[in-house]
Amino acid sequence: MRWFARIYAIGRVAGRRAFAALLIGVVTVAALAIAVRSESNGPSRAASRAGGARNPESAVSAAARPLPAAPTARAGRAARTAVDPAGEASCDPSTVDRFRAGDTTESTMERIRESPRRFCWSLRPVLAESDDLLRLVDRDHGLEPGYEPTDLVSLAEAHPEIPLRTGNERLTARAAEALADMVLAAERDGIELMVSSAYRDYETQRQLHEYWIERLGRTMAEALSAPAGHSQHQLGTTVDFAPVGRRFGETPQAEWLEQHAWRYGFSLSYPEGYETMTGYNYEPWHYRYVGFAAAYLEREFFSSVQHKMLTFLHENSRDRRSVAFRFHRGGPR
Ligand SMILES: [Zn+2]
Repeated sequence: MRWFARIYAIGRVAGRRAFAALLIGVVTVAALAIAVRSESNGPSRAASRAGGARNPESAVSAAARPLPAAPTARAGRAARTAVDPAGEASCDPSTVDRFRAGDTTESTMERIRESPRRFCWSLRPVLAESDDLLRLVDRDHGLEPGYEPTDLVSLAEAHPEIPLRTGNERLTARAAEALADMVLAAERDGIELMVSSAYRDYETQRQLHEYWIERLGRTMAEALSAPAGHSQHQLGTTVDFAPVGRRFGETPQAEWLEQHAWRYGFSLSYPEGYETMTGYNYEPWHYRYVGFAAAYLEREFFSSVQHKMLTFLHENSRDRRSVAFRFHRGGPR
């Protein structure tokens, strides 16, 4: 009976291998089918490029490209899980005309109308993100004094590879992980990104704001410091890189971030030339994590201006009867 047992064992292994091969085949075919569908949903590249050329204010090249592969396995996972499996959030390409423009300029709306299918295709994963990740926080839209992210981690403990100014900096787990990916990528390019400041609670922000008012007077302080409840730092997803100050804009760090931060889901909150719109002076050191999907959408359709995109999402999610799209969890407020 020993020969029978041996043949049986070989048969079992072969069976498992055949099953594994079949599984790999099925997954490959499914991936190809999805890729082909995505391609056919996108508009012609020439049309996209024409749209980009009309947006000279874009900080990075506005030339539209197909959705690139996420830079790391970890970021890839995040981007994929961002797709809403229930399909509750929706964007109908035939009704993009009914979007409220918000802060967005006519050139942005024109781009959306020009490529409605590609816009919806880029917007859908953004709609599946958590409300807080894309919450509009500016001078007019604040956070409650008690607002605190639930999953803050110490950067020193969770990611000792990130250079820190004090060692007490904290971020949400997801933002911290993306930051670690970005810091390592910068390092590979010979750039050291050091965190100067990250999460700040309401009370800390209140004291900081008071300090600046005392030191600079109210008018100047208001242009560079947020009142308590109106700072993106309270979200736990925002980072200031060292050295904080206008000269940061001339460093290789600033240049690297301008080119690459979006790949890791980070976006410059207060760009040069948009002071009136954002309510803040140019802050080349201040980056907010919005996730890869939103960073991509911002770059492709909102000229890399975060405030335009967040206002657009805010304006269109508030109207629950909007037929263009709605958020599945009430939307950012
Ligand atoms: Zn800041």
